Amino acid sequence: MPYQITLLPGDGIGPEVTDAAITVLDATGVKIKWDRALAGQKAIDKHGHPLPEKTIQLLRKNQVAMKGPIGTPIAKGFSSVNVLMRKTLDLYASLRPVKSLKGALSRYQNIDLVVVRENTEDLYSGIEHQVAPGVVESIKIITEKASTRIAKFAFQHAKTEKRKKVTAIHKANIMKLSDGLFLDCAQRVSKAYPKVTYNEMIVDNACMQLVLKPEQFDILLLENLYGDILSDLCAGLVGGLGVVPGANIGLDTAIFEAVHGNAPDIAGKGLANPIAMILTAAMMLKYLGENKRAQAIERAVNEVTAAGEVLTPDLGGKAKTQDVAKAIAKLV
Ligand code: NAD
Repeated sequence: MPYQITLLPGDGIGPEVTDAAITVLDATGVKIKWDRALAGQKAIDKHGHPLPEKTIQLLRKNQVAMKGPIGTPIAKGFSSVNVLMRKTLDLYASLRPVKSLKGALSRYQNIDLVVVRENTEDLYSGIEHQVAPGVVESIKIITEKASTRIAKFAFQHAKTEKRKKVTAIHKANIMKLSDGLFLDCAQRVSKAYPKVTYNEMIVDNACMQLVLKPEQFDILLLENLYGDILSDLCAGLVGGLGVVPGANIGLDTAIFEAVHGNAPDIAGKGLANPIAMILTAAMMLKYLGENKRAQAIERAVNEVTAAGEVLTPDLGGKAKTQDVAKAIAKLV
C-alpha cells in the first residue's frame, strides 16, 4: 500500500524544492500517493480563502503532509497561513535539527543541535490593535498548558534521540510573568528527566553564545518568536537556510517543511538549494518508520556536499535546483 500524503507545493521557490524532494523520494523506491492541496495566495485566487476547508480536510485525513514555503504579505494583507495551519491542526512542536553537512559549507564544523520551538502562541497569537493614533499593541500569550507540553516534547526528544542537554532560552529578566511562566514549566518538566542536563540562558546572550561556542548547545527549547529568530541564526552556522530541514508536529498530524521561506528573490530561476527540503523529506520518512530510506537520503546528501561539485550558488556552486536533486537521487 502506498503512503497517502498531502502535498502543499507552496509558492515562490516552494514548487521547485518540493519537486526536487519528490525526485529523491522516488529514487528511494518508497511508494507515495500525493494529494495536492493549495494554501496562500494561490488558494485565495482559486477558492477565495488562504486556507480553504478542502485543504484542512486533506491535512486531517492524511495526517502527514509535505509542504513548501508560503509567502505572507509584509505589514498588510492576509495573516500568515503557516501560523494559521499550525494553530488549526494544533501542530504545537516545531522540530529543526541543525547539523553540519560534510564539505566546507560554513565557518563551523561538527555542529549538531536541535531547535524545539513552541508553535501555537506567544506574539504569534496575532492579537494586535491600535490603542490610539500612533500607538499599537501586540499581545504576547504564554500559557502553562502550551509551555508544559513543548517542554515535555523537548525532553522526550532528548530521551529518544539520546541527547544530553536542554537549554531553555528566555527573556524572563524583562518579561517576568510570561517568560517566567515558560521557565517554571520547563523547570517542572526537567525534574522528570534526571539524566538530561537542564539549563537556562537569556536570549540575547544565547545569540552571542551560539556564534562563539555553538558546541555547548544540544537541544534549544524556545517560545515561538525566539524560536523563529534563532532557527535562522542556527541555520547560518551550518551553511544557511538552504540546508536546514524541519517539521511541525502535533498529537496525530505532522507537516514537514524546511525552515526557509519562499525566497521571492530567487524564485523561478532554478537557484534554490533543495537540500533543506530533501532532508525534510528524510525526516518525514523517519516519522513514517522508513528509517533505512531516510538514512540513505542523508548519506547521499552528505556525499554530494562532500564532493562539492554539484552545489547551488548559496553554497558557492553553479548547479541548478534539479541538478542537485538528480545528483542526490543517483546516490540513494
Ligand atoms: P526566506 O527564507 O524566504 O529568505 C531569506 C534569504 O535566504 C533570501 O536571501 C533567500 O534567497 C535565501 N534562501 C531561502 N531559502 C533558500 C534556499 N532553499 N536556497 C537558497 N537560498 C535560500 O525568508 P524571508 O525573505 O524573510 O521571507 C520571504 C517570505 O517567506 C515571507 O513572505 C515570509 O513570510 C515567508 N516565510 C514562509 C515560511 C514558511 O512557509 N514556513 C517561513 C519563513 C518565511
